[in-house]
Amino acid sequence: MSSAVRKKVGVLALQGDFEAHGKALARAGAEPVEVRSEGDLQDLDGLVIPGGESSTMLKLLEIENLMEPLRDFGRRRPIFGTCAGAILLAAEVLNPSQASLGLMDIGVERNAYGRQLESRIAQLRAEGQDQDLEAVFIRAPIIRRVGEDVKVLARYQGDPVLVEQGRHMVATFHPELTTDSRVHRMFLEKVATSG
Ligand code: GLN
Repeated sequence: MSSAVRKKVGVLALQGDFEAHGKALARAGAEPVEVRSEGDLQDLDGLVIPGGESSTMLKLLEIENLMEPLRDFGRRRPIFGTCAGAILLAAEVLNPSQASLGLMDIGVERNAYGRQLESRIAQLRAEGQDQDLEAVFIRAPIIRRVGEDVKVLARYQGDPVLVEQGRHMVATFHPELTTDSRVHRMFLEKVATSG
């Protein structure tokens, strides 16, 4: 991507692994911008909500009065949520139930792989890709319900792990923790095509 068309993509930087996402976005050809307040959302072409601890992030979002500004941003621009970010974008959250942005018509169960297997690395084949990608799961949620308008792009053990709905996308794994930029590039395609 040439610098003339480099998209500005925010990374919510309240908690979690936002730094790794910034680096992954830069590798994929975008200009990352750390977002900590409403003003930081100005002029962004898209936003990443990283992994971390969704309950902590939620508290910080409420303290910073960022829930409504993020919902509003999501009505106009693409958001990519990974792991805790997927939980924050979901319409329903279980185990335990908690508030969310509700921008994607999915239902998720937190920490759904259980305590014994808190993290794992799996090989997945995503839609439109001719090579597997390595998916790092860390205390990941499982997407238990997908709405009619949600498209499943990859599954692991039968459950959706990479899905999109309109301009938004979520992964229950951590594409920012590998050097493979394909998932970030998929998101940047959405950023480039959504008006
Ligand atoms: N277990 C975390 C949560 O429920 C998510 C873990 C992650 O983002 N790696 O919020």
